[in-house]
Amino acid sequence: MKNHFSLILLSTLQCNADCEYCFEDKTADRLTLDRLGEMMRKVLDYMVEKSLAALTIYWQGGEAMLLPPGWYEQAHDLIQREADARGKQVFHSLQSNMLAYSSRWNPVIAKMFGNSVGTSLDYPNLHRKLLGQGPESYNEIWGKRVREARAAGIDVQVIAVPNQATLDIGAERFYTHFVDELGITDFQVNTPFPGGEATRAKKELPVAEVEKLSRFYMELADVWLERGYHQGVRVGPLDALLQHFSHESATLPCIWGENCANALVSIDARGYVAQCDCWVTSYPDYHYGNIFECDSFGELLSNSPARQQFNERPVQLIQRDCLSCDYLSLCHGGCPVRTYTVYSSLFEKDPYCELYKTMFSRMERAARTLAREAKVSHKVAA
Ligand code: SF4
Ligand code: SF4
Ligand code: SF4
Repeated sequence: MKNHFSLILLSTLQCNADCEYCFEDKTADRLTLDRLGEMMRKVLDYMVEKSLAALTIYWQGGEAMLLPPGWYEQAHDLIQREADARGKQVFHSLQSNMLAYSSRWNPVIAKMFGNSVGTSLDYPNLHRKLLGQGPESYNEIWGKRVREARAAGIDVQVIAVPNQATLDIGAERFYTHFVDELGITDFQVNTPFPGGEATRAKKELPVAEVEKLSRFYMELADVWLERGYHQGVRVGPLDALLQHFSHESATLPCIWGENCANALVSIDARGYVAQCDCWVTSYPDYHYGNIFECDSFGELLSNSPARQQFNERPVQLIQRDCLSCDYLSLCHGGCPVRTYTVYSSLFEKDPYCELYKTMFSRMERAARTLAREAKVSHKVAA
């Protein structure tokens, strides 16, 4: 969206889970309402300076639900007041592991978050755990909370990250679990990356298995197009790519943005500013600065040497690795954090380049087929 800015806001760096592949260095820090006020005034002043009309805040943690619902109600009012005073629009989105969800959250989820929550679950779950427990107890509590939230009318979207076991069972079984067994009709499959401190689980992520991942995503595309597409099931990022190739308006994930540094920033509970959640929690060398230590958020961003590197990345890739790619205007060299965690450099193309090309060409073909079918059925009806 033009004139729009996104902020990933980590209201706390605490978490009630202990996932083995977590890229965050967790601490006990929590944002206070006073500090939130100071932060938002600086962010909104920056929007005035840059003539940005709207802001979406993606509330995350650690675990965002470790701050109570009443805190978010006050935060919502406070931000609204500051935004109204500057003629800006602010939207809110919540990402939670749902372990602390109860009906106490329903009013604020309805009022502030459009009755929608994003959460995460892998299948099979190998790495998402509670402290000192196996993945089964995580699955059990998560399943219970998600069923309760959905019974209360909350729309639950799920992000899944494929692991070795996911690739072994295949996309058909994976899709069946989410859609038919859990009743989830809106989910997104994100590629894994070994962000933060190295752990055994991160070394086991199928990052180097691009061929296997490509087969998985292609099988998932086939199953979804055959069983879910016409029924309104959404599987990201395939659905957004299909819209893109069908010349419809599509919200593509940030990994394929022109330059994520232009559209998005993350601030953590301590006030540190960086490109997104992984950078802000785990790579202090790539911090842009601290919002509580600056007078102007705009100056903090424009004076940051780390942010300068993000700005230079697309230019360098276009001149080198991606120049002759048919999908350059869609992909722009991919995601900096996936690149950095694999190559320890920002100035390489995304390690999932070949997977992306496979996905792009498959969804381009699907869009052509669907357009042909629509033409034929239109003729028959006429
Ligand atoms: S991945 Fe998310 S839910 Fe899991 S430990 Fe990390 S912050 Fe917590
Ligand atoms: S580094 Fe990757 S995940 Fe982070 S904002 Fe940029 S494109 Fe998105
Ligand atoms: S698909 Fe690969 S070559 Fe093409 S723009 Fe993306 S990273 Fe570059």
